[in-house]
Formats: sequence, structure tokens, C-alpha cells
Amino acid sequence: MKQKLVAGNWKMNGSLAANEALVQGIAQGLNAALAGQQAQVAVCVPAAYLSQVQQLTQGSAIELGAQDLSSYEQGAYTGEISAAMLQDFAVRFAIVGHSERRQYHAESDELVAVKAQRALSAGITPIVCVGETLAEREAGQTEAVVKRQLAAVIHTNGHCISEIVVAYEPVWAIGTGLTATPEQAQAVHAVLRAQLQAATSHADRVQILYGGSMNAANAAQLLSQPDIDGGLIGGAALKPADFLTIIAAAAR
Ligand code: PEP
Repeated sequence: MKQKLVAGNWKMNGSLAANEALVQGIAQGLNAALAGQQAQVAVCVPAAYLSQVQQLTQGSAIELGAQDLSSYEQGAYTGEISAAMLQDFAVRFAIVGHSERRQYHAESDELVAVKAQRALSAGITPIVCVGETLAEREAGQTEAVVKRQLAAVIHTNGHCISEIVVAYEPVWAIGTGLTATPEQAQAVHAVLRAQLQAATSHADRVQILYGGSMNAANAAQLLSQPDIDGGLIGGAALKPADFLTIIAAAAR
């Protein structure tokens, strides 16, 4: 059975001391949260802390993720971090196309698709974020927007598409405390699943995560939806007790 994935996105938060306390808190509570059941757990950390968190998570079931990677392989791209560099730290996941990167760094659907391709060719699973803004939802464009964003990734990655993770993150729900209702989220997840089914016979094994103010109080209901295969968690991933409660809700 497909396990659920709970991935923390620390964004630009943390310090050597805070990271140590956070990872230790999660690691110490993980067995109790899983209670003999299964769920995948990852933390997507700022690049500066990959080495530290690689060491902190060693020997635990917590997998390491990055928050972005370069669309280039190597060379004169100051400030960029390549897939090969992430490989050096045994990174298992890389978020691509987070709405904060689409918005503040003008990342296009095509650039996000190439980043996913770079990750896949390095053996790193891209967590491809898609999601509509509030204006797009109000204009009835939700389905068209997420399908356009995912279509670019499918087009560039062909049969490898079954190796990605998708995260549906309505932009209006990220960091705002507003959450899509389980029904709203499920409706979009079903659209994404159908789009994947048209592209690959292995669509059922693709984990489609929900992200957007998922927290200890609302996780169980969201995660009980048939096409919600986990969560991409921002704010609540910085609090061990909350993150562990979400993991417990995902475990089965
Ligand atoms: C995110 O940044 O991916 C996210 C879902 O943030 P939050 O949970 O804080 O809304």
C-alpha cells in the first residue's frame, strides 16, 4: 500500500541551535507518533543547513529534502545549487515550483518542469507544487491553472512522471491560516490524479500532497480524503509536537 508522505518545508527559518532542537524533538517522538504504522517523513531545509541536518537525521527515519535546485547542471550561475550538490548530502526530495518561488523569483511553468527533470536525473524526487491564487479561484480558474502547471512538468518529463510527488498548495492558503476544506482539496486532487492517469499507467502510485495551513487540528480530516496522500507542511513543521500530530494522522 502507498504510504503517506509528510514533508516539512522549513522555508527560510532555522539556526544551528534551533535545527538541532527541532530534529531531535521529531526524532524522539517519531516511533510513538507512528505507533507501529507506516508513513514517510521528510524535512526540506535551507541549503545552508543540509550538511547539519544530514548528520542530525542519520540513523532516524527522517528523510532529507531541499527547497529548490538549479535548472542548470553546473557552471557560472552564482548563488545556484545543482542537483549534483544535493546528491552529495544524500538529499531524497527537492521542492520545485513552490508558490513563493513562482511569485518572488518569477519561476515559470517551464522552468519548474526543467528543475523537476534535473532532480529526477539525479535520483532526487521532486515535490512539484501547483496551486491557484485567490483571484484565480474566484474567477473559476482553479482547475485550468493547476492543470497548466502540471502539464508543463508532464510534457518535459514524459514517462518519468510517475516518479514525482505533486503538492497541491492553494496560494491563498499558504501561511494565511486559511485552509481548503477537505472537499475543496479532494476535488482538485482528483483533477490532478486524472491528469496523471492520462499520462502514465502508474498514476496511482504518485503521492499527491496537500499544503496550505495544514496543522495538528485539521490534518486528520484532510488526510482521510481518497486522493490526499500526505502533506507539505510549513508553519506547523517548525513545532515538533504539531508536526508529530500530523505524522500520526498520516500513519496507517
Ligand atoms: C508551504 O509553505 O508549503 C506551506 C504549506 O506553508 P503553511 O503550512 O505555513 O501554510
